[in-house]
Amino acid sequence: MKKLIWFMALIAMISNYAYGSCKNELELVFCNKKEAEKLLGHDDIMVHQWSQFDCDARLGKTGGNKRELVKFVTEQALDWTDAEKKAVSDAWQKLNRIVTAEGYNLPVPEEVKVMKTTMMEEGGAGGYTREDFIVLQSGLDKSDPKDVELLLAHELFHVLTRRCPAFRKDMYALIGFKIADKEFEFPADLADKRITNPDVNRFDSYATFNIQGKPTDCTMAIFSSKPYNGGSFFEYLTIGLLPVKDGKVVSENGKTKVYKLSDATDFFDKVGRNTDYVINPEEVLAENFSMAIFGGNDFKSMKLIESIREYLRNNSL
Ligand SMILES: [Zn+2]
Repeated sequence: MKKLIWFMALIAMISNYAYGSCKNELELVFCNKKEAEKLLGHDDIMVHQWSQFDCDARLGKTGGNKRELVKFVTEQALDWTDAEKKAVSDAWQKLNRIVTAEGYNLPVPEEVKVMKTTMMEEGGAGGYTREDFIVLQSGLDKSDPKDVELLLAHELFHVLTRRCPAFRKDMYALIGFKIADKEFEFPADLADKRITNPDVNRFDSYATFNIQGKPTDCTMAIFSSKPYNGGSFFEYLTIGLLPVKDGKVVSENGKTKVYKLSDATDFFDKVGRNTDYVINPEEVLAENFSMAIFGGNDFKSMKLIESIREYLRNNSL
C-alpha cells in the first residue's frame, strides 16, 4: 500500500511537472532553446520601440541597428536544466495554490510560456516579458525559492497588464495613475536616448503630482542622459517626470520639460514605500503585486498591499 501511494504520488508529480497544473489553474509551458529563439525573434512592439541608445547599449557598441539586435537577442536563448525547471515549477505551483486559496481572480491566458536566456540582451536583468511569455535568467535552481516566487509573480503581472487593459487601468488607479485615451507621443528630443523597458509597452499613463506647490499631471519616462560609452544600460537610467497637458508632453522652446522624482513632493505618498524599484508605475505595481501574493503582512505601505488583495478578490474581470 505504501509503495502504491508513493508510486501514485510520483506519477502525479511527474504529470504536473511535465504538463503544468490541472485545469482552471494557470499553466506554465517551458520553451526549449529552439522554441525560445523563434519567439524572441518576433518583430513585436518592443522592437518597434527600440531607440538608437537601446541598440548601442544592448549590443555593447555604438552604431548598432535593430536587425543586428534582433539577431543578438535570439542568440541568447538557452535550454533549461532539469533542476531549473523544478525550481520554476515549484514556485509556479505555489503561486497557483495561493491564488486558488485566496480566491483571487486574475485575467490569465490559457498558458504562459517561459524561456531562459543569458540575459545579456537585457543588461543582466533577472527576467522580463514580451507578448504573453516570460524570459528568465539561468541558475534559478541556486536562488532562494522565495526570490524565484517573487520574480515569477512580478513577471506574471506584466503579462496580465499587457493582455487585459481593464486590469491594468484598475491596478494603476490603486497608486493614483490614470490611463490617457490615447498614447502620448514620445518627445522627439529624447527619442534617440529612450531606454526601452520590454515590460512597458504603452506610453499613456500619468498621475497628478505636487510640483513646486502646484498639482501637475506627469507621465514617467526612462532615457539616458549621456551617449553610450560601454557597460549595461542600467548604468545610464534617468527617470523623468514629464508634464503632460491636453494629451501631449509639454515642451518649452522645443525642449521637453523634465522633472526629477524628488521634485514631486508627494511621489512616494502615491506609489508607496514598499519598493525602491520605482522607474515606472508598471514596475511599482509588479513589485507590490508579487508582495501581495507571496509577502505576508509586514510592509511599510500595507494599505497598498491590502487594496491589491481586495481588488484581486473582488474584481469582476
Ligand atoms: Zn518588471
